[in-house]
Amino acid sequence: MSVFAHVEQVPGDPILGLTDAYNADSRATKVNLGVGIYYDEDGRIPLLAAVRKIEEQLAAAGRPRGYLPIDGLATYTNATRALVFGAESELVAAGRVATTQTIGGSGALRVGAELLAQSLPHATVAISNPSWENHRAVFGAAGFTVKDYTYFDAATHGVDFDGMLADLAKLEPGTVVLLHACCHNPTGADLSQAQWKQVAALLKERGLFPFIDMAYQGFDKGIAEDGAAVRIVAEAGIDSFIVANSYSKSFSLYGERVGALSVVAADAGQTKAVQSHIKRIIRTIYSSPSTHGAALVAGVLGSSELRALWEDELGQMRTRIQDLRSGLVNKLAELGAPEFNFIQQQAGMFSYSGLSREQVEKLRQDYGIYAVGTGRICVAALSSKSLDYVAKAVYEVSR
Ligand code: PMP
Repeated sequence: MSVFAHVEQVPGDPILGLTDAYNADSRATKVNLGVGIYYDEDGRIPLLAAVRKIEEQLAAAGRPRGYLPIDGLATYTNATRALVFGAESELVAAGRVATTQTIGGSGALRVGAELLAQSLPHATVAISNPSWENHRAVFGAAGFTVKDYTYFDAATHGVDFDGMLADLAKLEPGTVVLLHACCHNPTGADLSQAQWKQVAALLKERGLFPFIDMAYQGFDKGIAEDGAAVRIVAEAGIDSFIVANSYSKSFSLYGERVGALSVVAADAGQTKAVQSHIKRIIRTIYSSPSTHGAALVAGVLGSSELRALWEDELGQMRTRIQDLRSGLVNKLAELGAPEFNFIQQQAGMFSYSGLSREQVEKLRQDYGIYAVGTGRICVAALSSKSLDYVAKAVYEVSR
């Protein structure tokens, strides 16, 4: 009997499968709203000018490609710490934040999960209902039991905040609570700063461990505003927590796999010890991260000129998404479907559109418009060219 004789095929990622179906569709009018990617007006993934400039500088310098340290490029992790926690952060000044370069935001989640599996081995992880599909799988793979807390309210298309607080209050002390800093994936429904303060106070009171996933910093209101959750949790006096962040979207560097794990510990000594464990975990998985993406991000963040250019380009992506949201809402209202106005209140790339599985299926079959079965659409994959067509189709299937 051969070793793999009993290995059965497992289902592929449903969202990536959607893109395969989209690619195979021969209709010229087809639109893929199933992705988690920002596309420009021409349907391309933008290469930011700031990234292109630093890339040209690095290429001209012809640097050798030695190994990076296990925890990554220091200029990258230092700049990331300042971006995520704020340049004035007391935690950073006190040496209480260990930041490690990771293989995208996904790598930060997994390495963070492995670290917690050592310190909180019998804990449960609570994720929002719904959440990014991979959250359950990543924490499950690290050995945790994963359960949901109430989050989305389908009636208001926003957060069921009372339900969320009630569920968090029931969790056992020591439970890890996965929170989306901003631009909640998949719903687009975020907490206000006042709500964050209430959540942070509850986490502190109940002894719950915050694990903040920040994959879209700068995609809603701005870099500092979108990072507010991190500062609010810090200010609540919670002595230890984790932030996983990603530059995939904010730098449009999806394939470079640029992310970071930041672990906050109670004092500088604990932080150092934690960092040594993170290095050991990484050493046994992939040994050290890759050079190129980190050099790009560090180069942009470390140059005042390129940083200003990047912030401007990030602002343009953010504004364009907001324009696409209002464009879609206005077109639907003109057609006689004002019930979609909530799309304008949601934040980031995604919207839980409220379309049913049947309606999503009809969109695909009748119009070649691809969305996730849950009704999640990627607003950042619309363009002024596809807006009318998509609005009309959404109107038709929702009647
Ligand atoms: N967290 C969330 C909420 C995400 O949406 C994503 C990306 N889709 C990630 C983490 C992972 O980011 P990366 O692609 O950088 O691994």
